[in-house]
Amino acid sequence: MSGKLDFSLEEALQLMSEKSGVAKEELQQKVKEKVEKFSGLLTEQGAVVLVSKDLRIPLPYLEKKAMHVPLGKLQNGMANIDIKGKVSAINPIKTFSKGEKEGKYLAVKIKDESGEALFTFWNEQVDDAQQKQIGMDSEVTIQNARVKTFNNQLQLSLGFNATYTITPGKQEVRNVAVEKPREAITFSNAQAGQFIQAKASIVEVMPGRGYYIQCEGCKAKPRQLEESCSSCGRQNTVKQRLLLPLLLDDGFSTMRAVAFEEQAMQIWGKKKEEIVAALDDEKEKEKMQLELMGKRLEVSGKTKTGMDNVSVELLIGSARVIGFQSE
Ligand SMILES: [Zn+2]
Repeated sequence: MSGKLDFSLEEALQLMSEKSGVAKEELQQKVKEKVEKFSGLLTEQGAVVLVSKDLRIPLPYLEKKAMHVPLGKLQNGMANIDIKGKVSAINPIKTFSKGEKEGKYLAVKIKDESGEALFTFWNEQVDDAQQKQIGMDSEVTIQNARVKTFNNQLQLSLGFNATYTITPGKQEVRNVAVEKPREAITFSNAQAGQFIQAKASIVEVMPGRGYYIQCEGCKAKPRQLEESCSSCGRQNTVKQRLLLPLLLDDGFSTMRAVAFEEQAMQIWGKKKEEIVAALDDEKEKEKMQLELMGKRLEVSGKTKTGMDNVSVELLIGSARVIGFQSE
């Protein structure tokens, strides 16, 4: 596991050191201890988040500045990177259907002096790439790319706020060989629409109110509790519904996950009234959230595409607390 996310680890440690005055070596040691404590079930990135919590140093780890990475140096889990290369293989456009929706994708292989990687355009991106006359030898640059493993191959995809440029290439098809071996589904290779089961640690409670208000009758979402629904007029149908957004770490990667109602209560380990009362009090909320850090869960549920249209999130269908590891 060591070395896997060195570049982001370095940046995070530097930033934390500057903000806290704590020496980088000391922070490095704390991260190492954290990883050891979790016996390999936590990534260094996840450990950095936990250490930043322990030390109360805010860490804008999701807003990392982009850096250029040669294709030969790509590693699973990298994000916010800039890449540049030439199309060395291109597949015909393929279509798929998912429920009622139709989609299409175009897989190309991009190459530079150091190595090569797969990159897939989806839906409107396919039209855009065609308009730009993508073909063999097209020069492609991507800003804010991310790297995942799929079918045992490194795959580039567009990250949040990603942009790309394409120069016209030769219009011929030279197929990308896609290998088929299947591997166990973990947070690092999960795709949207899969059912996954995982043992994972909570490394972050994402910001938010912690619950929303909804009418059970008409599904309207008023901002405040109402005795009779201002949308449909029914009595006592407007209720608070728990919503717990988390960042989980399964030892392979981190993944955003969200738990509602029953599952949220399981994870908080409290009754709904207690949770809502604490969520409405900033101090109590922070205290309660800190208690979740490092909690280990067994979760299962379906994955879906995140708000950024690229990342994969877990909708927690069942959750069980299986332990706790913290300072
Ligand atoms: Zn209503």
